[in-house]
Amino acid sequence: MSVARTVLLKVSDNQWLRANGTKLPFVRRAVATFMPGEAFDDMVVAARATAAQGIQAVFTRLGENVTDLAEADAVARHYLDGIDRIRALNLACEPSIKLTQLGLDIDRELAFGHLRELAGRAHAAGSYLWVDMEQSPYVDVTLDLTRRLRQECPSVGVCLQAYLFRTREDLEDMTSRGIGVRLVKGAYNEPAEVAFPKKSDVDANYLALAQVMLGAGARAAGSRAAFGTHDLDLIAAIRRHAESVGVAAAEYEFHMLYGIQKAAQARLARDGAALRVLIAYGEYWFPWYMRRLAERPANVWFVVKSLFG
Ligand SMILES: Cc1cc2nc3c(=O)[nH]c(=O)nc-3n(C[C@H](O)[C@H](O)[C@H](O)COP(=O)(O)OP(=O)(O)OC[C@H]3O[C@@H](n4cnc5c(N)ncnc54)[C@H](O)[C@@H]3O)c2cc1C
Repeated sequence: MSVARTVLLKVSDNQWLRANGTKLPFVRRAVATFMPGEAFDDMVVAARATAAQGIQAVFTRLGENVTDLAEADAVARHYLDGIDRIRALNLACEPSIKLTQLGLDIDRELAFGHLRELAGRAHAAGSYLWVDMEQSPYVDVTLDLTRRLRQECPSVGVCLQAYLFRTREDLEDMTSRGIGVRLVKGAYNEPAEVAFPKKSDVDANYLALAQVMLGAGARAAGSRAAFGTHDLDLIAAIRRHAESVGVAAAEYEFHMLYGIQKAAQARLARDGAALRVLIAYGEYWFPWYMRRLAERPANVWFVVKSLFG
């Protein structure tokens, strides 16, 4: 892992900066590349614009590691209201949530109660609920709660991270239960005991896992296959593999983040790929933004330029 990535991921965990980083005007200017704004309505404007390009959306209100029950309740209400508003607007835009935002660190059952309510509301709206994946100590609980949820609600998917050694086993378990998977490389600072330290190994594992997702077993179980990546070589390899095994472009999808690889997003949509962009909004964006910088340390240059206006 590069030194710059390690430093940026450590900064993302700094409690003082988490609380105060968003107040720095030059950081606020720079984040606009990845976030249309802090309000739900800003997200809706962006989702409408991408819909006009044939690209659907996923929405997420930024926040994690909530330590106050009332705040977790408010987050759940926000998403319930968001699902209703999206339905009323007839927008193809699915919610994606972090369990620690629903109070997982305080009370697991309370977080599950919120999760179940959100999944039920999304399902009734003809939508789907995506569960994000956080740092490795949260993987077991995230998968346990997703398995429980799947027994009650069919429209649920979870994010899995190709950098973790354990993911192949988790992927086989999730897909065999018909749980959707959004495969990503992984955004956190993980130790070498649990994750591949070398990027080339992560990339190779991603492609191998993608092949499992497009395999007969996962497809027969009805698991939705979403590839969350901006890696254009990987995307091309996945499309080639899908074609070689007779999986049509409409049967799997790519998910990218708002503002990243915009030209490639438009090209893929024109080319018939099923594509969604994840649009993040909200006030608590500092750790999330630091992870975006860590993914491409060259982005720090944009922050520096913003410092000078
Ligand atoms: C829809 C979606 C949901 C995600 N959800 C989660 C989650 O729940 N848990 C989790 O751990 N991670 C999540 N991630 C983040 C993911 O783990 C990676 O950190 C991130 O996608 C970067 O990896 P990459 O696959 O794009 O490949 P990389 O090899 O990192 O990047 C490929 C190319 O894409 C471009 N690129 C990538 N990132 C950036 C960036 N930030 N700014 C500018 N250009 C960039 C660069 O040109 C780079 O060369 C999510 C990603 C996406 C797209």
